[in-house]
Amino acid sequence: MHVVERKSMSKYRKEVKESLDDKFLRKSLDKFFTDYRANRERIFTDFDEKGVIDKIAISKDAAMSRLEELYLQFKEEAEKRGVTVHRADTAEDANAIVADIAKKNNVKRIAKSKSMTTEETQLNTYLIDRGYDVIETDLGEWIIQLRGEGPSHMVMPAIHLSRDQIAKDFTKETGIEQDNDIQRLVKVARARLRKEFIAADMGISGANVAVAENGSIATLTNEGNARLVTTLPKIHVAFTGLDKLIPTLEEALTSMLILPRNATAQLLTSYVSWICGATNSEITEDKKRQVHIIFVDNGRSKVALDPVFSEVMRCVRCGACANVCPVYRLVGGHKMGYIYIGAVGLILTYLYHGHDNAKILAQNCINCEACRTVCAAGIDLPKLIREVRLRLVKEYGSSVDRKLMKMVMGDRKMFHRLLKFASYAQLPITAGTKFQRHLPLMLFPSHNFRALPAIASKSFRDQWSKVKPKVSAKPKANIAIFAGCAQDFMYPEQLIAALKIFESKGVNVSFPEDQGCCALPLEMVGERETVKSVARRNMDSFVDGNYDAIVTLCASCGSFLKNVYQEIFHDEPEYAEKATNFSSKIQDFSSFMRNTLGITADDFNKSDEKVTYHAACHECRGLEVTEEPRELISFVADYVPAAEEDTCCGFGGTYSVKFADISGSIVNRKLDNFEATGATRLVMDCPGCVIQLKGGAKKRKMTMNVGHIAELLAENMK
Ligand code: SF4
Ligand code: SF4
Repeated sequence: MHVVERKSMSKYRKEVKESLDDKFLRKSLDKFFTDYRANRERIFTDFDEKGVIDKIAISKDAAMSRLEELYLQFKEEAEKRGVTVHRADTAEDANAIVADIAKKNNVKRIAKSKSMTTEETQLNTYLIDRGYDVIETDLGEWIIQLRGEGPSHMVMPAIHLSRDQIAKDFTKETGIEQDNDIQRLVKVARARLRKEFIAADMGISGANVAVAENGSIATLTNEGNARLVTTLPKIHVAFTGLDKLIPTLEEALTSMLILPRNATAQLLTSYVSWICGATNSEITEDKKRQVHIIFVDNGRSKVALDPVFSEVMRCVRCGACANVCPVYRLVGGHKMGYIYIGAVGLILTYLYHGHDNAKILAQNCINCEACRTVCAAGIDLPKLIREVRLRLVKEYGSSVDRKLMKMVMGDRKMFHRLLKFASYAQLPITAGTKFQRHLPLMLFPSHNFRALPAIASKSFRDQWSKVKPKVSAKPKANIAIFAGCAQDFMYPEQLIAALKIFESKGVNVSFPEDQGCCALPLEMVGERETVKSVARRNMDSFVDGNYDAIVTLCASCGSFLKNVYQEIFHDEPEYAEKATNFSSKIQDFSSFMRNTLGITADDFNKSDEKVTYHAACHECRGLEVTEEPRELISFVADYVPAAEEDTCCGFGGTYSVKFADISGSIVNRKLDNFEATGATRLVMDCPGCVIQLKGGAKKRKMTMNVGHIAELLAENMK
């Protein structure tokens, strides 16, 4: 029997480590991840993905704003057609309704098809505790039921298991030795489960959609078991969340255009079953089948009214947000969710399964934004995960380390003084090199996957008066630099390389010195008030300049300044306007070079150096800049694409400290891919990624030169 337990951080870290050490899990999730990406790309070719996703988002948002009305319409329509419609406020109520129907009808055996909502309410446990025989009939669900586990994926619940493990479980279940041949194992399951469909007194299914205009529901499956569960037993109970309500059949069909494509890269699942009213039954005395539909609220009607979280009610449970998540890829669903898994699992755990259970899980997200770009319903999942963290901080308060971080990063002068002091204090461990050679982190071996950079002996701001470019009388553009902490204090040479290019192209450059950290690290730990005060100061420091653009060489800063500043000041009129102006001027280095300055191949001497590229998450997804950096590289060198260029490097600021094992595993896979290209140089648009990849490469003693794209370009300017 599957019972979900609460975890402490130390237990959670231990379990994460176990997953990382599980060779089979790593291999199978790796294969799944790469196959899924390729298949998804194929299935969405020549399909208006964005258009259909936008349509789903609009229709689901509208549906959730009139949830009560749709529920009443559905009830009326379904009851006209002989169905009994129930509504359960809580998980316990929903389970009790099923048990009551079972008791009144003298039910003994129950056959189930797959339903995440029954996982949410822990229905099986509830019924089994009350003496009912409950059997799952979806192959994956049956396998995990035999093992007493929960699903590790919303669509492929047993993806974490090998055929050997399944053969052992089937041997135990059938009492007959089973080999690990998949076809034979499927036959064993089929023979065993067929009997259950026939013997069951009650069938329980989920529902992918519930259509208000005609009171119908639909299930999408690949095994056909839902069709048997809903038509053979004399009673059918459909168990579904209120969020599955949709006004019209047409809107339901639109969501089906995306659901199978996104879930399993199929045009359509093998079976789509529609149930519209109670049908006749040859096995009941009155020749009628009982059909009950239970709508589970369990917090949904409250979430539908929440100004931020209501978006999550659009979710069609396709599971794609897990399929592209670098953390899920490594640790699997049991370590990245409570019952619901992946990105949406982190949010739904907070909303449906207690804030306490979300405290640890919500931290296990790198903010890579991969989930946002594939979501079937256009949900901004990273934003909602940040919102969970924010609300948890409000509810539970800040930890000591966060208070310290808030104090230091919230005070620009103190932060900069400390970094200056650190640049002197580090000498014994850097021995004058650009790396911290004897890491204090050697006390924590899991952090030793990369060499950390030294603090620069002179920050960019301290060099500014000497390195600032000559002023042009007829400038091509007037820009300001937003430096960001990593380049200001660790890699000033990256900014200086950019200045060299700007000067040669007649760009006038300013550096407002009151600017500080962009505040992304503070946002990542839920410290919104400090984020706002840092953001106000940043915007104020640029407000007097009449800049054509505010250029940053850090994709993470750029994406945060451009996308999040506006979002967080929407309810402060003075700063809302400032944020709109400020954000509209933010430009990343590569698109500024290509699109504003119009830099072409003629501006460079081309070498035959083999150069590969890492597409930083916040460059390719946050700022949606993909072509420009690759074009720039190809102007100056022999660009060699690497596998999975746009997957996360595992940095994520404090994430790489908090979950060092995961971060280290991610960066090592990235480095394997870069090494396989045979390139001698690796460049990117983000100094955070440079910390991670340069440090990882150094640790592996790779000879590859790792740095910022601006350095490569500056070296090759004509
Ligand atoms: S932002 Fe990235 S790490 Fe976080 S849940 Fe989404 S895919 Fe996973
Ligand atoms: S959040 Fe989006 S991607 Fe994730 S399961 Fe829901 S619809 Fe699919």
